[in-house]
Amino acid sequence: MGVLEKLKTGNVKLPSPPAIAVKILEAVKSDRQDFRELGRIISSDPALTARVLTLANSSFFGLPSKVDSLDKAISIIGTEALKNIALSFVIVKNFRGASQNGFDYNLFWKRSITSAVSAELLSKQIGKKNEDSFVTALLMDVGIMTMYLCRPVEYQRVFDEKRAGGLSVIEAERMVFGFDHQEVGFELLTEWGIPKQITTPILRHHHKPTGKEITAESVLYISDLISSIYHSSKSVEKFKTLQEVLERVAGYDEERVQELVDEVGENTLEILSSFEIDAGKMKPYSQLLQEANEELEKLNLSYEQLVMELKQEKEKAERLASELLEANRKLREMAFRDGLTGLYNHRYFQELMDKELRRAERYRRPLSLVMIDIDHFKRINDTYGHPQGDMVLKTVSRIIQETIRKADIAARYGGEEFAIVLPETDLKGAAVLAERLRKRVESEKFSLSGKEVGVTVSLGVASVNNAKKNIRKSQIIDLADKALYKSKTSGRNRVTLAAIN
Ligand code: GH3
Ligand code: MG
Ligand code: MG
Repeated sequence: MGVLEKLKTGNVKLPSPPAIAVKILEAVKSDRQDFRELGRIISSDPALTARVLTLANSSFFGLPSKVDSLDKAISIIGTEALKNIALSFVIVKNFRGASQNGFDYNLFWKRSITSAVSAELLSKQIGKKNEDSFVTALLMDVGIMTMYLCRPVEYQRVFDEKRAGGLSVIEAERMVFGFDHQEVGFELLTEWGIPKQITTPILRHHHKPTGKEITAESVLYISDLISSIYHSSKSVEKFKTLQEVLERVAGYDEERVQELVDEVGENTLEILSSFEIDAGKMKPYSQLLQEANEELEKLNLSYEQLVMELKQEKEKAERLASELLEANRKLREMAFRDGLTGLYNHRYFQELMDKELRRAERYRRPLSLVMIDIDHFKRINDTYGHPQGDMVLKTVSRIIQETIRKADIAARYGGEEFAIVLPETDLKGAAVLAERLRKRVESEKFSLSGKEVGVTVSLGVASVNNAKKNIRKSQIIDLADKALYKSKTSGRNRVTLAAIN
């Protein structure tokens, strides 16, 4: 199964390509490379035409003479380059606007455009000029946007883990999702019809270049580093890594690296407005350095004082970050957990059943569900009071937790009813667990208001042994419910089995 499929569960929709991007890709896909068709598509959108011409004439492109028409632009910079400029514009324009679920589009594109400019400049400098560099770097992180938009809560966790655990974005994504944005971006863009020479390097753009050779993916890696110098909180660290990599793969000295970073900043600032992206406080690197130095001089602090203060600040920030991580984890857990028993809640149970049933069907695996209801619970409440009733619920929950295996999931289904989902378990296995559970509750001594009291439960088990048909979740739940009802009517404190074969 592809990673897009995994993201798509529920009614989540994946970002689709803008219509005009599809047309542009179609026009240049044909072997005859119909540049008139490309010109026609671009010129049908006057705003796009104007932007393409502005970009072509910017110092970033450094054309020998100004171009004032699309035809001229095509003949000077070529169909491929023009296609990529146009694609960049329409894609950025399509995914913009107010932040959504906390996703900051402006920052995202500012970063991506900085990477794109870095890739273009770098590949030019090292003599590997390539028409695709700009758009490839621009799109390398669309996987992040996609993952965030599809699963904002989980992606927020990626940010938390990254910040507090000191993980790389890829490590944090794999930890939370089981896959990363390189794979998501690759699959999404492939689905959009973006050609291979663009999507392939994206799949590996976080692989740190090891040898001396610069590949398309190492251009992306380096571009991402340069972009983070401008847009992440770890500028100094990133600059060091950049210097190390560029010295190894291209023999750059510190001055040359600084020049490149500076040039990226200047060019990015020049073209951001064509994309209608706000530059905010972005400044070329050398200017940043100079301002930082001036600030330092103004501070008039002794070096030791400065180091001490920084150290304290850092410790404080680290403490805060880990507290935040823990608090966030608790909050998210609370959304799935029942407050009284600590078991999963009804909503989570329903989601989980969906997921497990689909998985069982896909791989033709068995799946079982056990429903449990405490016998004559009303009497317990009536005799010993509600708080004592709560105690019984908690103890039964604990027994359930202790009896099941790691892969099984127990939820509080309702008042004094519980459900256990047993993946990879057939009727026989589920029956064994149900019986063990029944016995354990029966033998537990509950101390209620100082009195020893016995409690029993009735259970209903439903299993799908070979889930190949389109079985509905409600069918299994109904079946388990009916089995439970049968346990009740035939005397309680027993297990009844049912199966869909
Ligand atoms: P049966 O053996 O047929 O299941 O009888 P029962 O008395 O257990 O079933 P019934 O459904 O008649 O009563 C369930 C009771 O559980 C009624 C309700 O007040 C109580 N209950 C539901 N939620 C809670 C809770 O959170 N705490 C406590 N103490 N009682 C609860
Ligand atoms: Mg009951
Ligand atoms: Mg009941």
